[in-house]
Amino acid sequence: MSDSGTDNKPRAPAIEGWHTMEAKPCLIGTQCDECGSYFFPRQSHYCKNPQCESTDFSDVELSRTGHIWSYTNACYKPPAPFVAAEPFQPYAIAAVQLEKEQMVVLGQVVEGVDVEDLKVGMAVELVLEPLHETEDDIKVTWKWKPIQLEHTQHVE
Ligand SMILES: [Zn+2]
Repeated sequence: MSDSGTDNKPRAPAIEGWHTMEAKPCLIGTQCDECGSYFFPRQSHYCKNPQCESTDFSDVELSRTGHIWSYTNACYKPPAPFVAAEPFQPYAIAAVQLEKEQMVVLGQVVEGVDVEDLKVGMAVELVLEPLHETEDDIKVTWKWKPIQLEHTQHVE
């Protein structure tokens, strides 16, 4: 009476269209055809650049690496459309400046990494982690993972 088939559910994005599903995933943003500004989440109606009146945007895959610009501890459930695991547990959030685009993208930090482990300027990469399971699949979302987690103990 084993139920062993359930571990093989397909993975599906918790929010459709925000990232690719490859082993090395990247976020999907848009770039203004006129001024070249990058946007994430995607912008497709008007350009936020006040100097630009473009309404034409192209989908782009954004850098999957960057450096931590700022970080914080989230003790509250994030507002929609962000999704959090249930039951809700506090987690670290990092604002990461993308390598190429130099734009800052917010994301959860992977499980097992605490705020105390993070430092401004730390290199991170984008990974997908499961959020929750449904009948048909396992919902995943993007998270930031330190590329080389230094174990900086507080030796004072
Ligand atoms: Zn523009």
